[in-house]
Amino acid sequence: MPVWSTIIIIFLFALLFALQVWWRGEFRRVTETTAGEIKNLKHRLAAEALEHRAQQSAIFNSMVEGLLLLDERGRVQLANRAFKKLFEATDVVLGKTVLEVLRLHELAEMVESLGPNQPWLDRELKFPGPAERWLQVSAAIVLNGSGERQGTILVLHDLTRLKQLERTREEFVGNVSHELRTPLSLIKGYTETLLDGAKDDPEVATKFLQTIDRNARRLDLLIQDLLTISALESGRVALNCQSLNIRSVVERCLGDLKIQAAARKVTLTNHLPDLMAHADETRAEQILSNLLENAVKYGREGGTVIVGGQETDGGKLEIFVQDDGPGIPAAALERVFERFYRADKARSREQGGTGLGLSIVKHIVQAHGGKVWVESEVGRGTKFIFTLPAELETGGEKTGK
Ligand code: ADP
Repeated sequence: MPVWSTIIIIFLFALLFALQVWWRGEFRRVTETTAGEIKNLKHRLAAEALEHRAQQSAIFNSMVEGLLLLDERGRVQLANRAFKKLFEATDVVLGKTVLEVLRLHELAEMVESLGPNQPWLDRELKFPGPAERWLQVSAAIVLNGSGERQGTILVLHDLTRLKQLERTREEFVGNVSHELRTPLSLIKGYTETLLDGAKDDPEVATKFLQTIDRNARRLDLLIQDLLTISALESGRVALNCQSLNIRSVVERCLGDLKIQAAARKVTLTNHLPDLMAHADETRAEQILSNLLENAVKYGREGGTVIVGGQETDGGKLEIFVQDDGPGIPAAALERVFERFYRADKARSREQGGTGLGLSIVKHIVQAHGGKVWVESEVGRGTKFIFTLPAELETGGEKTGK
């Protein structure tokens, strides 16, 4: 082989080797750059996904409605804060089915009935448990980018309070109608009888007119009490609190009750020292006259009614009205402050009671920041106790608390 050919071959081999080394270096560099870029991209996507999830959970957790997100197999993927609060649930619900979590077949059926022909549903459901609970449930299917079902979303809105308010309102309207109907039908009946001829007999006419008058007064009283209750409940009553000698208020109320007490031979006793309250005078008088009137009405004929009280350490006045009457049965004790509740229905009606007096007392006491309660023993008597803020004296000046 000629020398030149050998040199050329060696040169070509050297060139090939150099090219290979360069190519390897270049390949490694490109691979490393690409791997770095892919890694960065992955990080960015993961960060974005994380941010998206954080935003999603911030939105879900800020909702007042409970929310459940189910995956395509119907298992809980996400439960927001409101849901956990509503059902006192924890993350343990994750991965479970709706039936396992809420134990309500109607809800499971609702989820199952969703499909392309029925992508969403709304229903009011009553949830079992010790306390009655009503929820409005909205269920909708969740689709992915290609329009396939990816899961289900459930939004649960608590209707319990609304339902309770609705029921209270219905009961209230029912009670008011009932209370109005009795005196009204009596007025109507007696008026018709008078017009039919009874008016010609002066003795009978007087008796009938007295009954009409008594029932008209009862209606008037009922309407006044209803207006007071409605004003107190809506918070429309502005209290004009000032320094008030409670003993003087009691004296005034006892004076007004003298005739009623004499008719039942009841002795009225005021044991209250000169205590200064920070209260609205008219409203304080309303509390005391209601309690005192009840004590005379429902207490023992020939019995004794005592008013007493003291200032307590917490800057409050604790005042009581006590009688030695038949008392209130234990089962009725916690209900006597309810509107229209009567422990002894026949007695209350006969005495012209509206069943609203104690409810008014409770509202007024609470509007002053106080409390009212009752202690009673059947056959021995009843004691109503309430608190009012005491007038505080600072440096000769009097201020309310
Ligand atoms: P009413 O208009 O019927 O007197 P209240 O709200 O004042 O309504 O009282 C509710 C019920 O509580 C009364 O119907 C009565 O049965 C009972 N009650 C109230 N005060 C007394 C009392 N001192 N002794 C026994 N029962 C009482």
